[in-house]
Amino acid sequence: MHVFKFGGASISDVPRMQQVGRIIHEHAPASTLVIISAMGKTTNALEQVAEAFFAGKKQEALNQFEAIKQSHLLIANELMATTDAPGNVPAEALRDIFTEVEWLLHDKPVRDYDYYYDQIVCTGELMSTTIMSHYFQHSGLHAAWVDVRDILRTNDHFREAGIDWQYTAEQVNRQLKPLLQQHAIVVTQGFIGSTDENESTTLGREGSDFTAAVFANLLDAERQTIWKDVEGVMNADPRQFPSAQYIRELNYTEVIEMAFYGAQVIHHKTIKPLQNKSIPLHVRCFLQPELPGTVIHNHAVKNLPPIIVRKTNQVLLQLDSIDFSFVEEKLVPQLHQWMQAFRLSPNLFQHSAIRIYVCLDQKEEKLEKLALAASATAEVRLQKGLTLLTIRHYTEALIQELSANHQIVLQQKTPETIQLLLQES
Ligand code: ADP
Ligand code: ASP
Ligand code: MG
Repeated sequence: MHVFKFGGASISDVPRMQQVGRIIHEHAPASTLVIISAMGKTTNALEQVAEAFFAGKKQEALNQFEAIKQSHLLIANELMATTDAPGNVPAEALRDIFTEVEWLLHDKPVRDYDYYYDQIVCTGELMSTTIMSHYFQHSGLHAAWVDVRDILRTNDHFREAGIDWQYTAEQVNRQLKPLLQQHAIVVTQGFIGSTDENESTTLGREGSDFTAAVFANLLDAERQTIWKDVEGVMNADPRQFPSAQYIRELNYTEVIEMAFYGAQVIHHKTIKPLQNKSIPLHVRCFLQPELPGTVIHNHAVKNLPPIIVRKTNQVLLQLDSIDFSFVEEKLVPQLHQWMQAFRLSPNLFQHSAIRIYVCLDQKEEKLEKLALAASATAEVRLQKGLTLLTIRHYTEALIQELSANHQIVLQQKTPETIQLLLQES
């Protein structure tokens, strides 16, 4: 069995959707599970709907959702017009998805934001997979569509749900494996799941790579392939560094470290389920499927180029012990508890006797809560608008080059990795 994953960029317009169809025809072995994200920037648009709804702006939320609805109907029509069954759109199935959201939008919010976020945002993947599987069926593929929420069970940590591996494994055996034996491909949604009370959940932004890895693990897949708009994994984001180099081969450790430091090419939770079963991950280019892509596996890879990750919108939080007590005794464990409670994860952490430095993403609301909690026992300082630069396999020359015209606010260095928190000077 194989798992393919297509992200939003690969289905952002009709020609790309057709290209996905061609890739499946030409490259998917029999029994391939196809995980698909929401179309283009749909998730961002649905986030706006959730925000408007929660802010009590019902009409605005309905109007924004109507626009999403119409764009999906339009693209479904255009896509089907390219097949032998023009006009044959999965209208009823789409209507069921639309109705679910519209009912909710007519209510008043009584639960917390994250719950509504998940009920609304999950529809992006439901709509895209409904359209894509219908298209596959009408372009000669023996495809089945599955609502992943019947299989992938999670806890109720909305927006960042954790997988119930045991229940999900049972459903994979009971439902998914037989379907994969009966069909050439089975299409389902990335990023979403469901609680034991049938409430929809999401796994965190960009979580479809992770969904694919969960299924690859549970299906003991031979391989997982994620199709991207880049040649493969590069040594930096080509959008930030146009001279980024393509890397043919990497091992799991390197990629999990890259993702941990914020490289956006692969979701950070993707590697573990694959590594645990030694399933290779192949990153390939949907625009040029003839290219070899990047293979990620268990074996050591030598002579890697420096790998660069740049994260903007960083904040440095500085906590000073008020009464000169060692921060290690109370403040450090407390800070970790607060960060966990407010779902903040440190991108860099350092402390001395009476001072802690922690670098975090600039998430205003959560940072305010954290600063408030800490202000009872520490003097709190925040420095905003910083950039965190991480270089693995660094050279001194590269450090000089990339930190030029910047002030180094904080630095952490191991023999493998250097992290520099920078402010433009
Ligand atoms: P998806 O369609 O799967 O959601 P994304 O847009 O999330 O795809 O990921 C692909 C993008 O990741 C690329 O266009 C590229 O700009 C960015 N990217 C960031 N870091 C890297 C890297 N190290 N190698 C390749 N691409 C990277
Ligand atoms: N559609 C979701 C997002 O944009 C999940 C994903 O694409 O992986 O975050
Ligand atoms: Mg993405």
